[in-house]
Amino acid sequence: MTDIIHLLPDSVANQIAAGEVIQRPASAVKELIENAVDAGSSSIKLFVKDAGKQLIQVIDNGKGMSETDARLCFERHATSKIEKADDLFAIKTKGFRGEALASIAAIAQVELKTRRPMDEVGTQIEIEGSEFQSQHACSTPVGTSIAIKNLFYNVPARRNFLKSNSVETSHIIDEFQRVALAHADIEFSFNHNGADIFNLPKSNLRQRIVNVFGATYNQRIVPVEEETFIVKITGFIGKPEYAKKTRGEQFFFVNNRFIRNAYLHHAIQSAYEQLLPRETHPSYFLFLDVDPKSIDINIHPTKTEIKFEDEKAIYAILRSATKKSLGQHNISPTIDFEQKA
Ligand code: ADP
Ligand code: MG
Repeated sequence: MTDIIHLLPDSVANQIAAGEVIQRPASAVKELIENAVDAGSSSIKLFVKDAGKQLIQVIDNGKGMSETDARLCFERHATSKIEKADDLFAIKTKGFRGEALASIAAIAQVELKTRRPMDEVGTQIEIEGSEFQSQHACSTPVGTSIAIKNLFYNVPARRNFLKSNSVETSHIIDEFQRVALAHADIEFSFNHNGADIFNLPKSNLRQRIVNVFGATYNQRIVPVEEETFIVKITGFIGKPEYAKKTRGEQFFFVNNRFIRNAYLHHAIQSAYEQLLPRETHPSYFLFLDVDPKSIDINIHPTKTEIKFEDEKAIYAILRSATKKSLGQHNISPTIDFEQKA
């Protein structure tokens, strides 16, 4: 009998991985911006055309890549961020799987330009559907520029599955805002079809929230702070009178990574108890710092869900910190619109 099992070629394996990591233009935006953050950039610029269907480009001023690394970064499981299985439990970077660039290159036309501070010339690489097209030395500023053109050009089924430009753009804005909020100390900009959507200078968190969501937020939010052995909580919550009918701005960051967590969301919601008008939702921008060993990030391809070792304790601490903040800022059911944060 002949054997029937064979290894898939890289281009096919990468496309399968891409299906998990890159669902839409916004996923590519997230991966590129996170790479720029991991590269230690102090300035990150995003350019998008046609809701990301035509172009997604991220330009950073981070540490750049050597000629060899520039080539290697498109291989699957190629990462500079972890080396051994143990490192999975001490993750301080956004990325660690080494899958994003390989996935993106499998389903788009990609142009990379990169230069390290110690190199005189940079490297330029074109790759398309996992096939290298060209590589040469180039003159380029220190840092990295990655341009992704025609996402899903070779996977028509996925391209057709994309939603309208306004829907895809709003997903991109969501991802951009999440990273921008998590890193107020980095300057970010976002330009769509030639128009500036966001220009966010380096600032503190309160100022970043105001720059992202509008000047009125300065009076809408109050600080939360709590430090215990298992978690340090910082950030801001919205005053109850500004709660919204739609689920507004609700952000949890764990070790500076945006995550979703219905259980912790409930902790906040319950801290507001009778303070909220019926069927309204409070805003929150909360940062939880925990020992990386006490969480597992590696449970979901896009890393937006994580497992906590001490979920119950964190729930209780989060709820009481929120209550304390609401109390301290004297926010009682008799609403005081003059209240200053
Ligand atoms: P991961 O982020 O999980 O390591 P990626 O596929 O996103 O995997 O990136 C692969 C590698 O390419 C990274 O580990 C990093 O070394 C390098 N890299 C990617 N983007 C950048 C960038 N903007 N600046 C410097 N190096 C980068
Ligand atoms: Mg990455």
